[in-house]
Amino acid sequence: MMKYSDLVKIYEQLESTTKRLEKINCLSDFLRNLDKKELEKIILLVQGKIFPDWNETKIGVSSQLVIKALKVATGKREKDIINEWKNTGDLGEAAASLVNKKSQFTLISKDLTVDKVFTNLRKLPTLEGMGSVDSKIKLIAELLSYSKLNETKYIIRTILEELRVGLGEGTVRDSIGWAFFNIAEYNKKENKVEMKKDREYYNHVLDTIQEAYDMSNDFSVVIKKAKEGLDSLKKVDLSVGTPIKVMLAQKVDSIKEGFSRVEKPAALEYKYDGFRMQIHKNKEGAIMIFTRRLENVTNQFPEVVGYVKEHIKEKNFVIDSEAVGYDPSTKKYLPFQNISKRIKRKYNIEKMSKKYPVELNIFDVLYLNGKNLIKRPFKERRKILDKILKNPEKYIIKAAEQIITDSEKKSKEFYENAVDRGMEGIMMKNLTSHYKPGKRVGHMVKLKSSKDPLDFVITGAEWGTGKRGKWLSSFLVSVLDKEKNEYLEIGKVGTGIKELEEQGLTFRKLTSLLNPLIIEEKGKTVKVKPEIVISVVYEEIQKSPSYSSGFALRFPRVISLREDKDPSEVHTLGEINKLYEEQ
Ligand code: AMP
Repeated sequence: MMKYSDLVKIYEQLESTTKRLEKINCLSDFLRNLDKKELEKIILLVQGKIFPDWNETKIGVSSQLVIKALKVATGKREKDIINEWKNTGDLGEAAASLVNKKSQFTLISKDLTVDKVFTNLRKLPTLEGMGSVDSKIKLIAELLSYSKLNETKYIIRTILEELRVGLGEGTVRDSIGWAFFNIAEYNKKENKVEMKKDREYYNHVLDTIQEAYDMSNDFSVVIKKAKEGLDSLKKVDLSVGTPIKVMLAQKVDSIKEGFSRVEKPAALEYKYDGFRMQIHKNKEGAIMIFTRRLENVTNQFPEVVGYVKEHIKEKNFVIDSEAVGYDPSTKKYLPFQNISKRIKRKYNIEKMSKKYPVELNIFDVLYLNGKNLIKRPFKERRKILDKILKNPEKYIIKAAEQIITDSEKKSKEFYENAVDRGMEGIMMKNLTSHYKPGKRVGHMVKLKSSKDPLDFVITGAEWGTGKRGKWLSSFLVSVLDKEKNEYLEIGKVGTGIKELEEQGLTFRKLTSLLNPLIIEEKGKTVKVKPEIVISVVYEEIQKSPSYSSGFALRFPRVISLREDKDPSEVHTLGEINKLYEEQ
């Protein structure tokens, strides 16, 4: 059984370098020699995970709970723990130093195993209801009391889901390739790869791994197949009922630019301002709805399940679609924020579906009756879709409004028509391209009307004063700097939230979402883990030295909470720069 300290050595090595190739080299050496039984756990743990991406289960432990566990494990006062946290700026480091100080007195010399850590962590999310907090504290404290030095640090970071050893998906993929296919030798001196065979084979191996990952969304499946060989890897297919990552669009600013990216003729479709739904039907006839973040929202949209059941009678399939809200009395399409409150709803679901009805607009089919279709040309997939969708009905279920054209004039009319009817704009799609899970592709682009809201991630907040003292009431928002892969602040917002109560968004709600994400607290201000995405409208973008992005917003106003969006999908610094230039 592998000792946890052996894994910690790998964490340390990965963290000690920023060189991607060095990371791949280190990780692949480690993976190559693992026992088959260990592969699954290890590949998850090196990514700081205990569940694969498609699994919605989150560890769900807040900093506050970790502090309580530290209290139990070390006998220290809460105040001292928080102080240590402030000193180090990292709860993992703080824990390591506290646990270590303690262990001078109570030497427990039992070695912690990878198995033990994994098992305890996996138990955490299964605990619910009365007494569960205490049980969680016990599980964490037990690990802490056996852990030494950096073991403590990495356990805490794993629990808080912020391992931060700089291991992206691409790095994991390449490491698996290097580990099992003997394709590369690392030249440390020059920090470059030497191909064992040729570049073509090298790419072929990595592409095959990537495709297996796209289908399974799970490196623990991929690594086991990789150990068996390329043929096994090639057999990894999507499994109906397990969501795959959705394909995303790049942005263009004009029809001309759009055509230059997707070629002529192209398919143009309405861009519905709704809610992405990847819908699966399995052999047993069960229908499941997943969001773009792979969350299962089947229970929240029972009427959509009914529509799909009734209008697509095929045995099994996966379709991609957008549910758009409309006003039941005027039949006008409504922007996303009107249906956003349905996403996480647990009660009164029937009532909500009547009050905030949606129309399902299907724009793709990825799998049908046992056959994967993602490598069929888009045009063909759409044809299949039109064939399997019986009796489309407006305000119920239909295929996305589409034209195929090479005329810029026709496209312009189509665009104007879309905007008139309350759409966000249009999508332009290349007719022959494949469906690429999880990619923001250039063969499907979006053209939106100009003063669209911006999506930001909340990275900080301030506690309110007076009546609002219990609530976070001003929110620091950030954009993504793609090059540095970090979030940069662009301003503070609080305005607008009062008006969103009807939508289910309140200061209380935001506070309860952000509270478990707090990673640092100084006076009235807190820093939070970048998780929560909100849409903001504004008057103007200005240059400003006050925020790390170098920009600020004039009159920003929150218009909705985007629980369906991942923080990696917020607007980028590049996009802000472009918008600024265009003003
Ligand atoms: P954005 O959220 O701005 O990145 O735009 C991409 C999103 O537009 C997709 O994730 C879909 O949820 C949505 N969308 C609306 N209509 C369509 C359509 N006809 N084809 C593809 N995506 C669409």
